[in-house]
Amino acid sequence: GDDSTVSITIVGASGDLAKKKIFPALFALYYEDCLPEHFTIFGYARSKMTDAELRDMVSRTLTCRIDKRENCGEKMEQFLKRCFYHSGNYDSEQNFTELDGKLKEHEAGRVSNRLFYLSIPPNIFVDAVKCASRSASSANGWTRVIVEKPFGRDSDSSAALTRSLKQYLEEEQIFRIDHYLGKELVENLSVLRFSNLIFEPLWSRKYIRNVQLIFSEDFGTEGRGGYFDHYGIIRDIMQNHLLQILALFAMETPVSLDAEDIRNEKVKVLRSMRPIHVDDVVVGQYKGHTRGGQSYPGYTDDKTVPEDSLTPTFAAAALFIDNARWDGVPFLMKAGKALHDRRAEIRVQFRHVPGNLYYRNSGTDPDRATNELVIRVQPDEAIYLKINNKVPGLGMRLDRSNLNLLYKARYAKEIPDAYERLVLDAIEGERRLFIRSDELDAAWSLFTPVLKEIGEKKVIPEYYPYGSRGPVGAHYLAARHNVKWGDVGVDE
Ligand code: NAP
Repeated sequence: GDDSTVSITIVGASGDLAKKKIFPALFALYYEDCLPEHFTIFGYARSKMTDAELRDMVSRTLTCRIDKRENCGEKMEQFLKRCFYHSGNYDSEQNFTELDGKLKEHEAGRVSNRLFYLSIPPNIFVDAVKCASRSASSANGWTRVIVEKPFGRDSDSSAALTRSLKQYLEEEQIFRIDHYLGKELVENLSVLRFSNLIFEPLWSRKYIRNVQLIFSEDFGTEGRGGYFDHYGIIRDIMQNHLLQILALFAMETPVSLDAEDIRNEKVKVLRSMRPIHVDDVVVGQYKGHTRGGQSYPGYTDDKTVPEDSLTPTFAAAALFIDNARWDGVPFLMKAGKALHDRRAEIRVQFRHVPGNLYYRNSGTDPDRATNELVIRVQPDEAIYLKINNKVPGLGMRLDRSNLNLLYKARYAKEIPDAYERLVLDAIEGERRLFIRSDELDAAWSLFTPVLKEIGEKKVIPEYYPYGSRGPVGAHYLAARHNVKWGDVGVDE
């Protein structure tokens, strides 16, 4: 018996994220015996609900791991018994004091650690933090707060948010989630690179021609564009998720695996990046069209989006890291909604083999022979390496084949959701996968000037049909840097 207890309060428990991700992640952790022996979960929001109604709402989204169904129903019952609800306003110290009273009852005199998960719109972050920290902080254990994006929409608003949070919290109490960092293959990036002799020596301008970070969704805003329209794809995906992956990919070897050592290296990469020039960014927006008798809506057909919105739903950008390792290597990012497929991946294109015996004089495009390493973050996690290989037979014909690590074929275990890892890390005080304030500042410094320019100049996005491969401008941008997007061909 551990004599401490953890109380987890989900602020905004009536919302979408709580239902879809947070409660299911907590249940999965409970199911895997990862939660401490003594814990209590509280939902907090303005909606009126009884404990029973909360349990009913939560139970509808819980699922069991495919590989372990036994006892699942029983485990769910036990889990739900430890979930409670308190209705209150986000700006009421009084209501948070009531919550504090209820938490104390459950903590029963133990050392109490408290985790608040803010799953609410950004305009009420600070109110909720103020009230929670003043009226419901732990008296004798730690108090931590998980915050979801958006962390501002430019350098100034982000700095203002951080300043406000720090009126009530110390840096080490703030856990800023970037859920991409909780994804299995993103976490594996460092393992792949730093514990395999065949990769780390190649990880530089000497052997890598370009790196591509690609995110695509095959659906649009579908009536939920109100939030998105204020941010756009660059803020929603590039400045955070893709840039975080880039920093992990490109950082120097950290002194150790400690959170501070890793985050120090990430900040260094971000601060070494060249300011982004507006000519190195292509923006697009999806438009409606009809195909095969079916019609697809445009972005501005969404009732929650202004008719004249110029908000990009697609962007491509070329970024550079001006340090000794990466000088001159283009890092290309591409992110978009309403494209032809759904995926997130990292593609590393290597240089040509100098004087390649098999390709010289053959007239073959040497690009067809470059090695490419692909790390597919989602869906269907995989790592594969494209190599040149002799087609079996008496003749001498080459083709490109894949050395293929397909996760579902190799690992029987289901991959945990990113939120499971992140919530567990927050409970355990592991900060490696959370964004430190100076990292956030550096990320905004990089994107703020170009975002400002795009906004002020009212850059017209290039329109692309819903369900297509996006604006052709992305290809011209890549071509200017001597790059071909690697995701165009068929690739299995
Ligand atoms: P949500 O459903 O819109 O809001 C969560 C709860 O906040 C609502 O149930 C509501 O509870 C309260 N709320 C909503 N609007 C409010 C307002 N104007 N004033 C006061 N309270 C309000 O949000 P969500 O989708 O769960 O997302 C929560 C947070 O995570 C947001 O900051 C979002 O940006 C971020 N996020 C969400 C996702 C996602 O997949 N949904 C992904 C990444 C980040 P009551 O009315 O009961 O108080």
